[in-house]
Amino acid sequence: MINRYTQFPLLGHNTFGMDVQAAQFIEFDCEGDVMEIVREGIDAHHIVIGGGSNLLFLNDYSGTVLHSRIMDITVVEEDNDSLLLRVGSGVTWDDLVAYSVEKGWQGLENLSAIPGEVGASAVQNVGAYGVEAGDLIERVEAVSVIDASKRCFSKQQCRYSYRSSIFKQEEKGKNIITYVTFRLNKTNKFVLTYGNLKDVAMGMGELSAGNIRAAVMQIRASKLPDTKEFGSAGSFFMNPVVSREKADALGQLFPEMPQYETANGVKLSAAWLIDRCGWKERRVGNVGVYKHQPLVLVNYGGATGSEVYDFSTMVCQSVKDKFGVELVREVIVVE
Ligand SMILES: Cc1cc2nc3c(=O)[nH]c(=O)nc-3n(C[C@H](O)[C@H](O)[C@H](O)COP(=O)(O)OP(=O)(O)OC[C@H]3O[C@@H](n4cnc5c(N)ncnc54)[C@H](O)[C@@H]3O)c2cc1C
Repeated sequence: MINRYTQFPLLGHNTFGMDVQAAQFIEFDCEGDVMEIVREGIDAHHIVIGGGSNLLFLNDYSGTVLHSRIMDITVVEEDNDSLLLRVGSGVTWDDLVAYSVEKGWQGLENLSAIPGEVGASAVQNVGAYGVEAGDLIERVEAVSVIDASKRCFSKQQCRYSYRSSIFKQEEKGKNIITYVTFRLNKTNKFVLTYGNLKDVAMGMGELSAGNIRAAVMQIRASKLPDTKEFGSAGSFFMNPVVSREKADALGQLFPEMPQYETANGVKLSAAWLIDRCGWKERRVGNVGVYKHQPLVLVNYGGATGSEVYDFSTMVCQSVKDKFGVELVREVIVVE
């Protein structure tokens, strides 16, 4: 079924708590609905929204906001070691993680408690504690907003990288994702390399997907704001990646600066850079840097999108001035 609304309030559809509205809001239940919506003519100014947990609305949205309610979860293939799980794009991400852990399947446990929905996970390549959604995604099904055709992207075609995919590059704005298929393990293949995750999980008993999930949830609760208390969109900035030469020059000036070698260059810690610019727990009006995590900007109540955006610009500018490093916003700014 297709549901259409006008002047639709988006306050319950974005975790930053922006009290804005969409000129038109359309929800759909199945792939056929999406094809019908596109065939009838889709507004050129449109956005597909999931849980709105990585968006910052600057104003009321004058176009169409589309939202998936495709909720089915099906095992489509299975052998002794693994299975393929096809999941509707409207399923809440953490419900999927909880469901897979309950079933005794492995792979998603490190990604526990990330807000949002399954469709967006394939766009964003959500990641935490050493695992990214793209490691587990086998294929992504979508409907083209150009001609309503069905499209299927293999893992390789999705071109996953740090918080990015083809859906944020060449295919940006061209598809409405309907299903994401994940390959999950039936045998122990836990990823426990990140920070103190292994110790916390072992403190809970035997190493199991359930205990890893519980450990991740415990660690996250101590570091990230509860979006019911303060509006936020998680990490506002990405960790910048710089050339080896630039990293060496910075290392000379700031020997204590954390640096991580990656395939594309040297990754720096945005949190460290922001902290060193004196932003720790700073607040301007209704916006501030979260006390336990400098990467997270919070809306203390009543902030407008522009206030949050201007605050983020000040943070970027001070990091540029002090370190000569450009911070890139992870949060998608919607106008
Ligand atoms: C407290 C907090 C903690 C967070 N922690 C993490 C973390 O640990 N790791 C991490 O990676 N992220 C994290 N995030 C960010 C966020 O949860 C993820 O980016 C998540 O994937 C966004 O999902 P969403 O459904 O809310 O997407 P939205 O914010 O609604 O949309 C994100 C993007 O996906 C697109 N999109 C959504 N659904 C579809 C669809 N069906 N078809 C096509 N495009 C679509 C949107 O157009 C937009 O471009 C955190 C956010 C918060 C608030």
